[in-house]
Amino acid sequence: MTSKETYIQNFINGNFQNPKSDEWIDNFNPANGEVYGKIPNSSKADVEEAVNASAKAFPGWSTTTVEERSKIMLKIADGIEAKLQFLAEAESKDNGKPISLALSVDIPRAASNFRFFGHAITQFASEAHESVGHNAVNFTLRKPLGIVGCISPWNLPLYLFTWKIAPALAAGNCVVAKPSEVTPMTAYLLGEICNQAGLPKGVLNIVHGLGQTTGQAIVEHPQIKAVSFTGGTATGEHIARTAAPMFKKLSLELGGKNPNLIFADCDYDKMLDTTVRSSFANQGQICLCGSRIFVEESIYEKFKSDFVARVKALKVGHPSEKESKLGALVSKPHLEKVLSFIEDAPAQGATILCGGKKVTVPSFENGYYLEPTVIEVKSNQCKLNQEEIFGPVVTMMSFKTEEEALAMANEVRYGLSATLWTNNLNRTMRFSNELQTGIVWVNTWMMRDLRTPFGGMKDSGVGREGGWEALRFFTEPKNVCIQYS
Ligand code: NDP
Repeated sequence: MTSKETYIQNFINGNFQNPKSDEWIDNFNPANGEVYGKIPNSSKADVEEAVNASAKAFPGWSTTTVEERSKIMLKIADGIEAKLQFLAEAESKDNGKPISLALSVDIPRAASNFRFFGHAITQFASEAHESVGHNAVNFTLRKPLGIVGCISPWNLPLYLFTWKIAPALAAGNCVVAKPSEVTPMTAYLLGEICNQAGLPKGVLNIVHGLGQTTGQAIVEHPQIKAVSFTGGTATGEHIARTAAPMFKKLSLELGGKNPNLIFADCDYDKMLDTTVRSSFANQGQICLCGSRIFVEESIYEKFKSDFVARVKALKVGHPSEKESKLGALVSKPHLEKVLSFIEDAPAQGATILCGGKKVTVPSFENGYYLEPTVIEVKSNQCKLNQEEIFGPVVTMMSFKTEEEALAMANEVRYGLSATLWTNNLNRTMRFSNELQTGIVWVNTWMMRDLRTPFGGMKDSGVGREGGWEALRFFTEPKNVCIQYS
């Protein structure tokens, strides 16, 4: 990269531009702890300009034929795929995740998001209801909302950014979006791809900056009709407070503390392989990671020794090395937050079975590396089991009965996802009914079909994304009732 290119710019009305204030934030490379670029510290004035560009673009975009919109979405997907290596390297550098993960998951999924909604919009239909005996027919018009705000977190940067933007655009809305200021690079690079794909100017505007200023300005802007947000529960609560008096539509995908329930009758080898992944993929920084492991008593000791042996063998290393299974955590403050949970473990009567320490990677001594950590806890009520750590840390404990396992799975404020390992069909159905989570995986983890409703219960959020749910969120239904004689 040239030094000029390390300055990320806002993407407003199809142009790349500096923030009006000319204030900048440092962008860190988590793998070596060094500043490698600058990010706009955008203010309300930048958001205002983005909203104005969207307002100008909306009449044209919302009436563009569905075929034309779809074609542009698919071209954006092609553009992302054509730059797979380049975008994956940028994502890995910005976030600290292993390049192998960015190449196999993050960037392909970003392309899939555009491809999926590019196709989905051509099949999106609304209902008609014939009022028999009243000589009347009702039909539903589904119109784009107007200008919408999309705010995304740092853990799966382009993956989650596009998961919001693609359905919003496909449905005919104009978007003002903000990626996390911790990982803005691939969102910045997306602007050029959108221009090359022929997305009209002003339809997508990307404003970089801090959550409390830029993000807040998006949420509170009166012309922004809906906000789709993925991030922490505390931030989600704040956004809900801001948006509620303005009656904005909200989709909130928030934190998780997901149970991984392992029964003795499961396919043990598959479970073990998958549990290593569901615990530590992306350094444990996925809202869907199974961070609380509950194991049936009869296989607890065997699982404990097998799992710990597998975890100890995971290589922590520079994200660009193919052998690295874990890269760096996203930032220094986040590393310190995760470490503070580990340091507090003994005070909670918990035992660290492996990991728990910072890792020094030769030549990258200032990077934010941490050993994958397994902690045995005595109670589901301890802080380690109740608070979201969002790092390479899992807890484990045993259970005796199905009832006990279910109760512990549900005894938490979050309700995003759960994983169940069993070959008992009746138990599968009982748990599927009783688990208080938006997603239940049985004998698998993070297998995603983009048509399915995605989201959480309880403090994990409000609303669902994916498939028709996303297209319904980004449209306003209007009932038309015609009586005829
Ligand atoms: P945050 O809540 O800190 O931030 C998310 C986004 O919101 C960022 O772009 C942030 O900007 C912005 N933001 C912060 N404050 C405000 C505000 N007042 N108004 C508007 N926007 C604001 O989450 P993290 O980035 O730390 O992400 C980790 C969290 O995301 C975890 O809790 C995780 O569970 C959750 N998550 C949930 C998922 C789900 O689908 N349910 C999926 C992935 C993650 P900035 O970065 O500049 O502060």
